Amino acid sequence: MGTGAEVNLNHPSPLAPGWLSYPDNVNRLNPALWARDVDRPADELTISGLTVSDLAEQYGTPLFVVSEDDFRTRARSFKDAFDAAFADLCGGVDVYYAGKSFLCTEIAHWVAEEGLRLDTCSGGELAIAIRAGIPGEHLGLHGNNKSDAELGRALDLKLGRIVVDSLPELERVAALAAARGTIANVMLRLTPGVHASTHEFIATAHEDQKFGLSLADGESSPAAQAVAAALGHDAVNLLGVHCHIGSQIFESEGFELAARRLLAFLADVRDRHGVELPELDLGGGYGIAYIETDTPRPPAEIAMAMADVVRSTCAKFGLRVPRISIEPGRAIVGSTTFTLYRVGTTKTVRVDVEGGDTAPRRYVSVDGGMSDNPRPVLYDADYSAVLASRSSDATGVLSRVVGMHCESGDIVVRDVYLPADTDAGDLVAVPGTGAYCWALSSNYNWVPRPPVIAVRNGQARLIVRGETEDDILARDIPRTNN
Ligand SMILES: *Cc1c(COP(=O)(O)O)cnc(C)c1O
Repeated sequence: MGTGAEVNLNHPSPLAPGWLSYPDNVNRLNPALWARDVDRPADELTISGLTVSDLAEQYGTPLFVVSEDDFRTRARSFKDAFDAAFADLCGGVDVYYAGKSFLCTEIAHWVAEEGLRLDTCSGGELAIAIRAGIPGEHLGLHGNNKSDAELGRALDLKLGRIVVDSLPELERVAALAAARGTIANVMLRLTPGVHASTHEFIATAHEDQKFGLSLADGESSPAAQAVAAALGHDAVNLLGVHCHIGSQIFESEGFELAARRLLAFLADVRDRHGVELPELDLGGGYGIAYIETDTPRPPAEIAMAMADVVRSTCAKFGLRVPRISIEPGRAIVGSTTFTLYRVGTTKTVRVDVEGGDTAPRRYVSVDGGMSDNPRPVLYDADYSAVLASRSSDATGVLSRVVGMHCESGDIVVRDVYLPADTDAGDLVAVPGTGAYCWALSSNYNWVPRPPVIAVRNGQARLIVRGETEDDILARDIPRTNN
């Protein structure tokens, strides 16, 4: 650990990325990154009044901590914002929570209790939805390669929608439904040639990806062929079309262009087949703040912009406004959760910088890593972190929070200023880990997956039990000695 003078020489660090500002107070919480009931009333980080050290003592670390109130509020505010924006167009919006971002039975209950529906994309996600008692008509099933077993289960549950991804799948769904004497509720997943992320989108005609039916090539497009085929099947109830243009999107332009292209397609379907399909799903992808420079727009603003486009495009084509649905995942669960880690070892390395100088980077090793949050490894995702078990008077030092796995790429937070005295035994909390962290977790290095707790009204409870060494040994097949 450096002396004050040495530390001061290096702040702001020449190693810091351009977006990272030097904190005037390392103990301050940026409210944009944290669940609403996370606070630092004295030294320690608390959630709904519970201290992180008590939570760590009771449940161990690493630990996923979900704010139930924050989840419910975000779910409701998406539903309310889109309902309000589309009220006079199509009577409101169906919001499907994208279960793949994070799903367990308790979360499924919250989703249903707040008036949302649930998107699934596998038999396992369907099983959780069923355990939570969600009625089939409030469920969707996605996927580019659904099995007959998954499709059959969806049909037996009378799912509200099966989002069909390809022509062969359409034929399989029709045959499975006919064999059961039932009718499949089908949406067609189309690829509108719009890809969006954060502040940019690109628009093309052709798509080069595994999902969906292409809109390119007009009357002979896969999308047009699928509509004709679906309308010809007695066992298929074609509800409408669907698209999903990307993830972690901050601006509404990409959604607007996709809506325009899909509505033009629906007008085409009407002209050719004399059918006005009743539904349009504009997918998910709404962004959240992971770091201080992330500035997602509030759901109400995006909803209004999308409603304007739907209104004007439908008017242009003389099209009845279809019932709109959306599928936010990350934007509902992402910011509700933080991960609590215990610091094990620390070290400072000197890194060469321009002009022949070196600058310090502090490595703070925690007791989890890429097995509970693979997003930095998979997507170069940025996160932030704070020293959580106490406050500190030390200056901030450019730090890298790293995991305990046998990979040098095992990074949890690439760049953050942590107090220079952060050390073994301290708890570090990483906000924004609700989406695609636990859901993507693994047993890499045979590390047990951590538990998830929900906190509400000053009470914590387990909603996903953590794995133990016994769980790991139970799946490993020992030699029989006889
Ligand atoms: C992943 C996914 C979503 C949710 O995306 P978020 O970025 O979490 O909002 C919605 N719809 C489909 C089809 C998806 O694949």
